[in-house]
Formats: sequence, C-alpha cells, structure tokens
Amino acid sequence: MAKKNSSKKKLNGTIIVTYRCNARCSMCNRYKAPSKPEEEISIQTIRKLPKMYFTNITGGEPFIRTDLQDIVRELYKKSERIVISTNGFFTDRIVKLCKEFPEIGIRISIEGLEQTNNKIRGLQNGYQRGYQTLKKLRDMGMKDVGFGMTIQDKNASDLVPLYKISDSMGMEFATASLHNSFYFVETKNIIHDRPMVTKNIENLINELLSSHSPKKWFRAYFNHGLINYIYSQRRLLPCDMSFDTFFIDPYGDVMPCNGTENKEVMGNLNIQTWEELWNSTEAEDVRSKVRSCDRNCWMIGSVSPAMHKYIWKPFTWVFIHKLKNIVGIKYSMYENKVVCDYRDGKVTKEELDKCSTYDMQAVVNNGLSEASMEQLNNRTGEEIVDADIAQQLKK
Ligand code: SF4
Repeated sequence: MAKKNSSKKKLNGTIIVTYRCNARCSMCNRYKAPSKPEEEISIQTIRKLPKMYFTNITGGEPFIRTDLQDIVRELYKKSERIVISTNGFFTDRIVKLCKEFPEIGIRISIEGLEQTNNKIRGLQNGYQRGYQTLKKLRDMGMKDVGFGMTIQDKNASDLVPLYKISDSMGMEFATASLHNSFYFVETKNIIHDRPMVTKNIENLINELLSSHSPKKWFRAYFNHGLINYIYSQRRLLPCDMSFDTFFIDPYGDVMPCNGTENKEVMGNLNIQTWEELWNSTEAEDVRSKVRSCDRNCWMIGSVSPAMHKYIWKPFTWVFIHKLKNIVGIKYSMYENKVVCDYRDGKVTKEELDKCSTYDMQAVVNNGLSEASMEQLNNRTGEEIVDADIAQQLKK
C-alpha cells in the first residue's frame, strides 16, 4: 500500500485534550474514567501535529484544562478552522477564550429542553448554564456557535423544539445519536423505540429542508443517515478514518476515530514525529482494519469528511429532496426500506439490535493509561474530578 505523506495534504484532526469530565451523561461513562492531568497532551506534543484544514477540540470537558487557551493558540498556527465541543459549564473560561479567538467555533451539548437536558447530562443548572453561555457568545458577536444534541429515546420529542430555539437565535444545530465505544466507555447504548425516535428526526429533516440554507439541507442528509444508523444499517458513505482524518487522545496516542470497541493505535506523538507515526506499519495496520470495519458509526467526525469526499451522493439526495420540498412533498422516513420492513414485521427489534454495536455482555475498555487506572483504586472518577475542579475554582 502507498505510504501516506501527510506533508502534502492537510488533515482533519480531533484532539481529545482530556478525559476529565464534570457532566454525568447517561449515555457516556467517560466521567468515571478520567485521565491524570500530568499525563495529558502537552503543548510540545501539540506542536508536532500536522497542518489541518479542520480541528475539533474535545474531551471529556476540554475547558477543565486551565491551559486550553495556550493549546488553542498553538493549534491556530496549524489549523484553518477550530471547533470546540463543550458542555458550556465554565462560562467565564469560554468567554475569555472567545475574546481572544472570535473566529473559533463553539458547540455546546444540550440534550433537550431544560428538564430533559438536566436529567440526561446530570449537571446542575446545566441547561441554563449552557444556554446562557451560548447567548453571551452570540451577544459578543461570535458567529460560529451552536447546540449539539445526542438524540435518544429520552429526548427525541424535544428535538424539533430545541432546533427551533437554536434557529431563532441564529445558531448551528448539530445532532448525533447513541454510539458504543471505548471513548464513551459504554457498550449498552441503544435506541429502544426506533419508530418514535426516527419520526422526530423525520420532522427535523423536513424543517431543515424547508429552510433557505444549503448548509441545513446537507444537515438534513446527515439526519437521514442517522435514521439509517438507528436502524442498524450499513453507513450511507464509506468510512475513511485514518486516511486523511485522525484522533489523538490525552496520552498522545493517534487513533483512527472514537468509534472502535477498543482503542486502535497508529503511534504515539509524544515519542514519535508525525511523519514517522503516520507512515508506520502500525498506522497501515490500523488503516486495513478501518477498511473492513463493520461498526457503521454515523458521527459528524467521520461523516463530514466523507460527505465532502463523496459529495455527489449527498448532493443528489439534497437536490431531489429540496425539489420535492418545493412542490410540497415531504421527506418520509419510510423512504428507507428497513423502516418499512420493521413496520411490516419483516424484521424484528432483536434482529436490528444484533446488527448494532450494542452488547450487554462486553467488558468495556476505557482506553486509560496504567497511571490513570491506578488513581481509580481508592477513589471514583467523579470524586477525583470534583476535587480537581474545587481546587481550580479556589485558586
Ligand atoms: S465505522 Fe469508521 S468511525 Fe466507526 S469505528 Fe469503524 S472506522 Fe471508526
């Protein structure tokens, strides 16, 4: 196989700056498995990253890191666009960072209207804090701000109302659904009432298609892919993670994505140069695994690059569905054969569950280092992170 020379091509990178998190989301157990601050990716390692056309900074909760502003400053030198995913809790830190980098993108995870959000995310006043942070950023003139929502049984009915709030504030509205992987420290995430959840997604798709924004029409396609994913079908687009896209974890391990069952490592940027790592046999091995990966994730991190690369497919879908929308024909989730098959009893819930990554028996691999695991011997992840934040706030 030909060697990948990253110096020729700008990449799409996701930097997991920490595994520490102060939220208690019901669909993600990462808060129980935090990284040790001393081990988290350093500025020196970040300097070794390649040029990127897009960088997503995520966690854990990235703003738990008090040096996040220094990290962004470094990444700004090598990336055309940066978006930070956050739970919006550390309002002052977010505002301070955005004052220095007004072009940056901020996505705040809000999992539904107030009551639903606070129940799912387990953050006291989480909705109000997230909402107020977004409002503040908007009032400051920040353009690239928005909501991120993980659609599930508990919040599906809030999907369109939340979209409408975000739309009325002129904000982006990013969606996802439940996934299982080492990154989420979870194997039991699954949508139980597929028709109900996807009906709400269908309504969102029709809202998006009715808008005048081409960006929203393509978001409609992404959501159409979510329906397909929720029904455990093959991805609508190939997955090319690790070819021109990468993730790096808090320990400097470079990975193809965050959707694998166990952590897949292409190399370690703390001890290797980018070129060595990217062109290594380990990286090639991971790429072969990606080629035969059957997990069929549908997360924006792996779908957005694919939508750009295989643009003709989403473009055709958008063209047809926008035309239909103009003449008053609405998108229907029954355009997906499997949705009809499920309605008609040709396929059962159990059969669909079996095709997904949901696994009641699997032992979760959390991808932590030995030192990070060791700290969990005497205290829980929640206790460690709560004490850590209390200490930070005292200072
Ligand atoms: S489908 Fe793609 S994003 Fe998902 S686990 Fe496989 S390689 Fe990673």
